Amino acid sequence: MSPRRARRRETPPRPAGFPRGMDRVEEWPDGEWKVRALTGASSAKSYRCPGCDQEISGGKPHVVTWPNWPGGDEERRHWHTACWRKRLDRGPGRSRY
Ligand SMILES: [Zn+2]
Repeated sequence: MSPRRARRRETPPRPAGFPRGMDRVEEWPDGEWKVRALTGASSAKSYRCPGCDQEISGGKPHVVTWPNWPGGDEERRHWHTACWRKRLDRGPGRSRY
């Protein structure tokens, strides 16, 4: 793979053949995270994104994530998809949640 192709990659690699629409596991420098993409269509509820501290309005596609370790499913958070991708770019001193 050329360096240019590598730089264009925006999402972490995922296991080949992983079905769409199901939970996936992403590996990040701070551990493994389960990520579920939500269409938002089934809920009008709003959430506050921990990345930008802005509201995710009801009906908008977004992701819900939680740590892939014991007890991690108690730590589910709803994020804007883009904010989740940029999560570790925000620098030290911020909560990872
Ligand atoms: Zn956000």
